[in-house]
Amino acid sequence: MLSTAREVSVFGDAIAYFNEAAELLDLDAGTRRILTKPSRQIIFSIPFQRDSGELEVYTGYRVQYSFARGPAKGGVRFHPGVTLDEVTALAFWMTWKCAVVDLPFGGGKGGVTCDPIKLSPGELERVTRRYAAELVEVVGPDKDVPAPDVGTTPQIMAWFMDTYSMHIRQHTPGVVTGKPLEVGGSRGRVEATGRGVSLTTLAQMKEMGMTPKGARVAVQGFGNVGSIATQMFADHGCTIVGISDVTGGYYNEKGLDVGGAIAYAQEHHSLDGYRGGERITNAQLLELPCDVLVPAALEKVLTADNAAHVQAKLVVEGANGPTTPEADRIFNERGIVVIPDILANAGGVTVSYFEWAQDRNGYFWKESEVNDRLADVLHTNFTEIRQVSSLRSVPLRTAAYMLAIDRVVKAMKMRGMYA
Ligand code: NAD
Repeated sequence: MLSTAREVSVFGDAIAYFNEAAELLDLDAGTRRILTKPSRQIIFSIPFQRDSGELEVYTGYRVQYSFARGPAKGGVRFHPGVTLDEVTALAFWMTWKCAVVDLPFGGGKGGVTCDPIKLSPGELERVTRRYAAELVEVVGPDKDVPAPDVGTTPQIMAWFMDTYSMHIRQHTPGVVTGKPLEVGGSRGRVEATGRGVSLTTLAQMKEMGMTPKGARVAVQGFGNVGSIATQMFADHGCTIVGISDVTGGYYNEKGLDVGGAIAYAQEHHSLDGYRGGERITNAQLLELPCDVLVPAALEKVLTADNAAHVQAKLVVEGANGPTTPEADRIFNERGIVVIPDILANAGGVTVSYFEWAQDRNGYFWKESEVNDRLADVLHTNFTEIRQVSSLRSVPLRTAAYMLAIDRVVKAMKMRGMYA
């Protein structure tokens, strides 16, 4: 379960990174004012019936942060800790993430404050359909295109797509991405975020003169992003010294059996009870002796309290917002390189874009084509980020924000102000 204790605003932290890059870009005050406010925030009630007959009401959100470069795009989170602040921060990050990999999308995000683990499949379907029905007027392939995030699945996307299509009386697979293959999903989408994490990591390791074979990697989070990235690191010869999920972590300095851990997690729905390594806490995992650390679970795990104890040379943000600005400063001072979330985990939205494009054409690509195009998008944009980073002598995160903000601002200026 993700932590619900977030003393400082997640959106506040997110804006701190934006401001740093905006300063370096010499962005005028008016443009900054526009870009630090979401275009639209929607809050609504989701009444539904439990299997027991009892009536419940959840709160649903959709934040459409920016439309400057295209329709809003971003996932839907089902989690007890979902708040408007968190959804807004996630929508804000989506804006820069889509721009940094040069996709024709703005940024959005949604969520429902609920615990999906406690819902039966029927209850989950009713919550999803009501959530989708409430958004019929404001989502669509040219308006806003949701996708899965923490707590939501391809099945939930299929229900969303079906509800929307029924309402508008037209089969519309392009209204959401991350769907199952049977209803217009893309090959390679499930693995895309983890694949992007591993591709960007391997590229940066090369840049830093590190060889994958034998490099020690620790990964926090063993869900979609964490488990797939871990498998890909192992496939490249890395030694996986630590893994963890919400139930705790496991350590083996000689390397864990990744295939065994994935099979265990699939069978037991978590790593709880796994015997392949020494038990450690999630806090210990972040401070393990390793070369690469991949936080791939939740926000704000690398903070002023633990950043000085991180031993990795390279931190790769599989999760959105795992590093607070204070921790980021400490990493910069200590020479620890960070691949920022908006690039490291952009593989997911990139293949979502491919899915949207395939749906609109009704023509589907081979998996190898999806993977080759993904590698090309990440390589091209990572090269540009590195160029900005060395030209302006700034960390990769600042360079990524500068590139993304510049692309969004150029689109805004071209469109002009309708006021
Ligand atoms: P998921 O629900 O599949 O997995 C989340 C994992 O984190 C699980 O293993 C869970 O046990 C673990 N976890 C939860 N709370 C934890 C805690 N307190 N300590 C340690 N581990 C904990 O979610 P996911 O899709 O893998 O997403 C993980 C992160 O990656 C999120 O920040 C999400 O926004 C981000 N992300 C996901 C995608 C995607 O395509 N799935 C794309 C971009 C970014």
